[in-house]
Amino acid sequence: MKSRLRVASEPFGYIKVYLYHEPVKNQYKITDIEIYDLFATIRLSVVKFYTVSLWAEICLRSYGGGLGGEEAQRFFQLLLDALVWVDRLPAERAVFVTLQFLVRFLALAGYPLDLSSCHDCGRDLSLQEPVFAEARDISWCCAQCARPGMIKIPAGARRYLEKTQMMPIPPLSSIFRMSTKRRMQARRGWKSQATCKHSSRESSDR
Ligand SMILES: [Zn+2]
Repeated sequence: MKSRLRVASEPFGYIKVYLYHEPVKNQYKITDIEIYDLFATIRLSVVKFYTVSLWAEICLRSYGGGLGGEEAQRFFQLLLDALVWVDRLPAERAVFVTLQFLVRFLALAGYPLDLSSCHDCGRDLSLQEPVFAEARDISWCCAQCARPGMIKIPAGARRYLEKTQMMPIPPLSSIFRMSTKRRMQARRGWKSQATCKHSSRESSDR
């Protein structure tokens, strides 16, 4: 038990803790621990460790995005999916998982990323147009409405964010290692599976 407790107390492990409530002292004691996954590669890579530390910071500072009930469960599942895949991918791909994590977290917290139109003039943007954003704002605008100092999000990056934010992370993560040709083929194939739920991921992951 002690050795399991020591191992399970490492950060970013996926564990189940059994508690006993001692009514006289009104204290909780750990009676058992089940270890599901310790994501070993995260602690072997500074890049991965700092990546997941960012996610943890966001969870803690935002109090879980202020979410409750079913949305809190979805947030937990999102964090778990992201941990699973950052653990399996090479460290240089971790930034892509962070992008997907952040976009999905914002949507769950009530700030969905809609890059299809300009927030200033309301014009619908074509797929070839970039968008511009303030570093401390969550609104976007077109090239005509852009102000000096705004960050440019190129059309390709915008399309990537728009197309991928509704895809499940597990099949999405394999896109990172594909050639451009295979990526296009996969996207066409995944269009028909866009409604695929995480339940199928559960059975294939473990
Ligand atoms: Zn505009």
